[in-house]
Amino acid sequence: MSFSKLGLSAEIVQAVTAKGYTAPTPIQEQAIPVILEGRDLLAAAQTGTGKTAGFTLPILQRLAPKSTTQGEPRPVPVKAPSKGPILRSAVQATGRRQPVRALILAPTRELAAQVEDSVQAYGSHLDLVSLAVFGGVNITPQIRRLRSGVDILVATPGRLLDHVQQRTVDLSQVEILVLDEADRMLDMGFIKDIRRILSLLPKQRQNLLFSATFSNEIKALAGTLLHNPAVVEVARRNASAEKIFQQVYRVARTQKAALLTHLINHHNWYQVLVFTRTKHGADRLAKHLGQNQISAMAIHGNKSQSVRTKTLARFKEGNIQVLVATDIAARGIDISDLPQVVNFDLPDVPEDYVHRIGRTGRAGSTGGGSVPGL
Ligand code: AMP
Repeated sequence: MSFSKLGLSAEIVQAVTAKGYTAPTPIQEQAIPVILEGRDLLAAAQTGTGKTAGFTLPILQRLAPKSTTQGEPRPVPVKAPSKGPILRSAVQATGRRQPVRALILAPTRELAAQVEDSVQAYGSHLDLVSLAVFGGVNITPQIRRLRSGVDILVATPGRLLDHVQQRTVDLSQVEILVLDEADRMLDMGFIKDIRRILSLLPKQRQNLLFSATFSNEIKALAGTLLHNPAVVEVARRNASAEKIFQQVYRVARTQKAALLTHLINHHNWYQVLVFTRTKHGADRLAKHLGQNQISAMAIHGNKSQSVRTKTLARFKEGNIQVLVATDIAARGIDISDLPQVVNFDLPDVPEDYVHRIGRTGRAGSTGGGSVPGL
């Protein structure tokens, strides 16, 4: 199966090929034709399955014929520019705002930023403007970008509602809505925010719901949101967990940090992602490792967005040996093919365990997950 056989345009296939993808993943193969048809979709897919491209590619295609440069009606006659910025300034000059046409809601800042990166990469040959808005960063530049016109908006619910409150975003023309990692958004208590956002959207639209699990809550949300949806389910990551070598160490709670230090040194582990249950625990463990000459940093909800982004970049570049993270901070971050993932504290729900170890053994590569401290 090839991307062009799925009905994607040459511009999009070109961008995907430039990313080095040769064939669609199972979720892409199933979801792309359904979305291109304009149908609602309920998809069970986890991070690592290629779900982001699964919804981004067909959305780009559906919006492209009427992009801000080609469609009508438009506020000013703009000579089709090849790049967004020219268009943005042209629209800005009129002082009028382009309404958002596709809205993608994501649970965390990291995921929102990554999804928007994908939109940009896959849409690099199209004249569509995208933007990610999330909290923890200055709202003013976001307002400026929104004012100048955005086709595809990726947002966390809280910050989007801040924009709604300040009347800096127009959601009245949204044609496509995506709830990405919907189960996580519900876990994080976003249901009220989501319902409020839904009430601001036009009734006639396409809805896509992606979730790692189909809990009763998700089913209830899907029931009210989706109209005659196609249902797509790809093998859960734990179904292919045989690729991941998992090991459990039984150890007294007080010895966990010492054991981890020993394992890292003994096996010469690098790029180790370690999960802790609490923010405080993450800080404490990073400090302990540092005191034992292992370079480690922690990311969690109390760190500012810019610190989290910088830390993640340093980890990806290999400048930090160990990244200690809470589930929420690590959620959705695009680090694949990690050699080691450590569950320093066991997660509260099985799905989180699957998500955590899914950081390794991705896209066909093997890796190891270990669980010290039961
Ligand atoms: P996601 O599940 O969207 O977080 O994607 C997981 C990883 O798979 C990302 O690093 C993508 O860049 C990569 N990916 C997405 N689609 C493909 C594909 N068709 N072939 C190979 N890798 C892909």
